[in-house]
Amino acid sequence: MAIALNLGFARMGARRELKKAAEAYWSGKTDREDLLSVARGLRQRHWAHQTAAGFSQVPSGDFSLYDHVLDTAWMLDAIPARFRSLDLADDLDLYFAMARGSATQALEMTKWFDTNYHYLVPEFTADQEFRLARNRQLDAYREAKTFGFPARPVILGPLSFLLLGKVKQSGARPLALLDRVLGAYEELLKSLQTEDVPWVQFDEPVLATDLDDSIRDAFARAYIRLAQCAPRLQILLATYFGSLRENLPCALRLPVHAIHLDLVRGPDQLETALSLAPDHVTLSLGVVDGRNIWKTDLARALTVAERAAEKVSGERIMIAPSCSLLHVPIDLSLEQKLPAAVKDWLAFGLQKLAEVATITRALNQGREAVRNELEANRESLERRRTSELVHDDAVRERLAAITKHDFARASSFPARKQKQQAVLCLPLFPTTTIGSFPQTAELRRQRARMRSNEITAAEYDGFIRNEISHAIAQQEKLGLDVLVHGEPERNDMVEYFGELLHGFAFTENGWVQSYGSRCVKPPILYGDVTRREPMTVDWWRFAQNLASRPMKGMLTGPVTVLQWSFVRDDQPRADTCFQLALAIRDEILDLEAAGCRVIQIDEPALREGLPLRKSEAPGYLRWAVDAFRLATAGVRDETQIHTHMCYAEFNEIVDSIAAMDADVISMESARSQMELLDAFAAYGYGNDIGPGVYDIHSPRVPSTDEMYTLLERALDAIPAERLWVNPDCGLKTRRWEEVTPALEHLVAAAIALRNKRPAHN
Ligand code: GLN
Ligand code: ZN
Repeated sequence: MAIALNLGFARMGARRELKKAAEAYWSGKTDREDLLSVARGLRQRHWAHQTAAGFSQVPSGDFSLYDHVLDTAWMLDAIPARFRSLDLADDLDLYFAMARGSATQALEMTKWFDTNYHYLVPEFTADQEFRLARNRQLDAYREAKTFGFPARPVILGPLSFLLLGKVKQSGARPLALLDRVLGAYEELLKSLQTEDVPWVQFDEPVLATDLDDSIRDAFARAYIRLAQCAPRLQILLATYFGSLRENLPCALRLPVHAIHLDLVRGPDQLETALSLAPDHVTLSLGVVDGRNIWKTDLARALTVAERAAEKVSGERIMIAPSCSLLHVPIDLSLEQKLPAAVKDWLAFGLQKLAEVATITRALNQGREAVRNELEANRESLERRRTSELVHDDAVRERLAAITKHDFARASSFPARKQKQQAVLCLPLFPTTTIGSFPQTAELRRQRARMRSNEITAAEYDGFIRNEISHAIAQQEKLGLDVLVHGEPERNDMVEYFGELLHGFAFTENGWVQSYGSRCVKPPILYGDVTRREPMTVDWWRFAQNLASRPMKGMLTGPVTVLQWSFVRDDQPRADTCFQLALAIRDEILDLEAAGCRVIQIDEPALREGLPLRKSEAPGYLRWAVDAFRLATAGVRDETQIHTHMCYAEFNEIVDSIAAMDADVISMESARSQMELLDAFAAYGYGNDIGPGVYDIHSPRVPSTDEMYTLLERALDAIPAERLWVNPDCGLKTRRWEEVTPALEHLVAAAIALRNKRPAHN
């Protein structure tokens, strides 16, 4: 008999209970027992949900107060010296110090594969020792048992754990630490075996990435040791986020009892797995998408499962979501405001569990047993496939009619630059900011009052106008060269545009963990995208009328909107992105017609869309760059197009950034001390650049000297006539008390630099 399996569950709670409890604890409003009891309650509730849905065994240890990679480092005692020397009496304080920093810098944070979840990067030393210091897995297992739930500990596997970490201050590879870390993993497994735990799950998502032979060999070595040290334990090896491809034979040779495959991202690997899997290995089929919110095509998933069962027998099959349900919201039934038609097409975490249960039952008892579920599912899918909300022929016709001219500006950059300079008359080292100004508590309060109809739209607009006037007056006083309106009307750079475009829906509770207690609520992009009417032109006009200097138009780019939304799965991502590009193109042309001379299209998420496999990167970059060009290339030479990117490794994609052909790019670079510019110089990047000179994540106000020094360094890589002066990113999370002096210093640094080179212009 096949069984239903779940790899992991979201932690936050459907109403973000964990966020609230953690933040209250951090701010000192509650004590640790309050936090731990909320966490316990959530685990119990989530286990109950899974059991009720028909899962005979639940994952344990998948819960985390902050991050599961940090939990693994914590468990194995990989605690960097700077935290140990804090001498914190309370273990929980030490844990949160590593997560969030305090007297010392927190662990670095980076993206978990290609998701929008961020994990804390384990820090190792070349002589790192590991030991089972805190057996959180055993604790979690016992807790589940006490509540009456048979559990399966979910453990980040040793190879993924090491490869996600960094060995500090030495060129050593994390892999060099394998033997040592395995000692600690062995201790863990032995303790679980002593407890009579039947199954453990090792998550090894690195198997879906490009690996070399030494890593594949290390996998074999590691799992032989793990299997031998606790022979009564059965191991489920979980892989996800893509096909294992050339790593699949290696995975199938490991001495484990079950292997989970992501068949949503990697359907191609099933046949190989069916023919190569040894007889004692059970295959867990990840046929329900754990990364998106659409209802599964149950009949199609079932066909896959039936095919597998026919080849290897139902005994050796498990049915599962493709990955942990960490990446989708918990419960669709909480949504009261979604259009009924759209809600009909969706499945969140709990609904996905029900889908897995249905497929499992159909496999075991025949399709007849779930006839009603299959029929209802087929009807939903059919309604979505034929819905007028989804399909707009005009959009398709327009896309079909675009030609290569739509992707290219009329002239090359040097010619454009001359014409733009004739209009804008900017000084050497022009100063500007990235778009947003402080979003004050008062602003958030007014927005909440507007949403709950406590104030009228007109009252809210009046308030926004005041904010804009204030931001402009400040900028004029500071003497910035290219101004912004400050974006007070936007609470989020994607949601704002999504709400104004056709094709998007918004949830009330569709939160997904981004990092720690931070959650995002991605819009749902369900249909062909069209712009109903100009979205930003009135605000821009209002702002420009108040200003004596050029006012930037501010838009979010097509790739970023795509990347930060749940997007449709019924057409290629590239097609959706091009539709977004056309809508933004129209907005840009309207801004230009209104007299806007500088338009910034933010693409901070361009880098994060990069596929996990190197071989797929060029294809993605091609359409992502094309989408940006399609959005921007319609303007006249005189109109200056800016773009902005931040908080990612851009070195490897400089050629693609160059291909975007923006007249000016502003980028975050203060924290890396302008390191990034070397890659731009080496490539021969020819357009204007504004490397950030002010780290906006810190409340610290950098001095004029500091920014001046950074600019001098930038001049080693970028010629003076192409260098702009700006902060790293938008200023919405800062306070005016920090922003005003910081920008004073920024302008002073630019002026000092100009004065040093009077002959130049
Ligand atoms: N224009 C946006 C802002 O200033 C850009 C934000 C971002 O890069 N994430 O807030
Ligand atoms: Zn930014």
